[in-house]
Amino acid sequence: MITVVKFGGSSVANSAQFKKVKHVIDSDPARKFIVTSACGKESHEDHKITDLLYLCEAHVRFGVSYDSIFALIKDKYYRIKNDLGLEIDLDHEFDLIEKHLEKGVNMDYLVSRGEYLTGRCLAEYLDAEFLDAAEVIAFRYDGTIDTERTQTLLAEKTVRDRRVVIPGFYGAMPNGVIKVMTRGGSDITGSVIANCVDADVYENWTDVSGFMVADPRIIKNPLRIPHITYNELRQMSYMGANVLHDDAVFPVRMKNIAINIRNTNDPDNPGTMIMNDCSELDAKYPPHAVTGITGRKDYTCITLIKSHSSAEVGFLRKLLTIFEEYHVSIESVPVTVDTFSVIVQTKLIEQCLYEIVGRIRKEIRPDELKIEEHIALIAIVGRGMKQVPGMSGRLLSEFGHNKINIKIINQSSDELSIVVGVENRDFEKAIRCIYDKFITEERKSL
Ligand code: ASP
Repeated sequence: MITVVKFGGSSVANSAQFKKVKHVIDSDPARKFIVTSACGKESHEDHKITDLLYLCEAHVRFGVSYDSIFALIKDKYYRIKNDLGLEIDLDHEFDLIEKHLEKGVNMDYLVSRGEYLTGRCLAEYLDAEFLDAAEVIAFRYDGTIDTERTQTLLAEKTVRDRRVVIPGFYGAMPNGVIKVMTRGGSDITGSVIANCVDADVYENWTDVSGFMVADPRIIKNPLRIPHITYNELRQMSYMGANVLHDDAVFPVRMKNIAINIRNTNDPDNPGTMIMNDCSELDAKYPPHAVTGITGRKDYTCITLIKSHSSAEVGFLRKLLTIFEEYHVSIESVPVTVDTFSVIVQTKLIEQCLYEIVGRIRKEIRPDELKIEEHIALIAIVGRGMKQVPGMSGRLLSEFGHNKINIKIINQSSDELSIVVGVENRDFEKAIRCIYDKFITEERKSL
């Protein structure tokens, strides 16, 4: 059994968190590949090491002294070293970084040092091998990860029967120059490694016990989602629920490796298991019809009505081309007879709304055109909805009882999700009412 484990920044924020990580690692010999983020925030007022490194880079670029920021970074690692009695030569490590800074900084190199130093400390503390990501995570010049080469390098560089710690978030180009991923990229490193070593499971340790059915800021103590499919997760994260970097899903999904989201501060909690297919588990533990409820505020809906346009070939294409020309990505296009709506995130259209509307009036000549702002979209996601007739009906009547006006309703053809549009001000109320109806009430009737 091989488990790849990734610890996020909050799991390695200080020496107390390092001790929790050790407990997790020591309690399961299958946890052989350990990927770490850079130290995250210890408290609300604290700063992530990666943020401080980006700030340092900006200071260097503008020729302003970075000493006070660099001192904060040093302080964090010296405290970890001293608290845990480590031998790592931090003076030497920081000298090297400062030499680079004096020469003019390479941003990717600088910001990768957070993961590098955290990985060095963690490897020593866990008595594991340290494997520099620059030696194993291979980028192509186009910025994509070369999985085959990464697999070969990993096989060459790992020592049998020794645990390895690999810093997340960065790798190297074919010429050896360090390259970082997008923010939160350590999730991707873990996933790529899980793919390359054919892991049985990819554990992603963070500070929450997996995915919750709804946002805890809206629903007090929501239920945890024990199992979720990759497809459901995609819908949930697209609409706002984010625990995992979007790009971390593909490398494991293609090999059918499950991701287990776990909480370093509550290691006995089984967290959420993300899998291609939950049917075996579902047979044992039948899921709720609704797996999760998520959503976002601030959409704009542009609706046009034009008699007989439904019969006009190419009408929709003409309309959508205008949005394309302004590079506005479209969320949804609900269509009924002679009425077409285009829903987009308000922030994407703010700068060009009136130009787009002008073009629509000129080129499409609608009989009527309406713009509605302050719309929230809520996605009700669930693989269990397929078997349940009348889901949309129950939803509509529940909203009716609670005087929530539905502006848009759209069910995906695979019946995996229903998306409703309501006014921003009804967003929280609508989520509460869906949760009460489809989760709380269902549990009471069990
Ligand atoms: N340390 C990086 C960040 O803060 C990468 C990561 O944590 O995954 O974005």
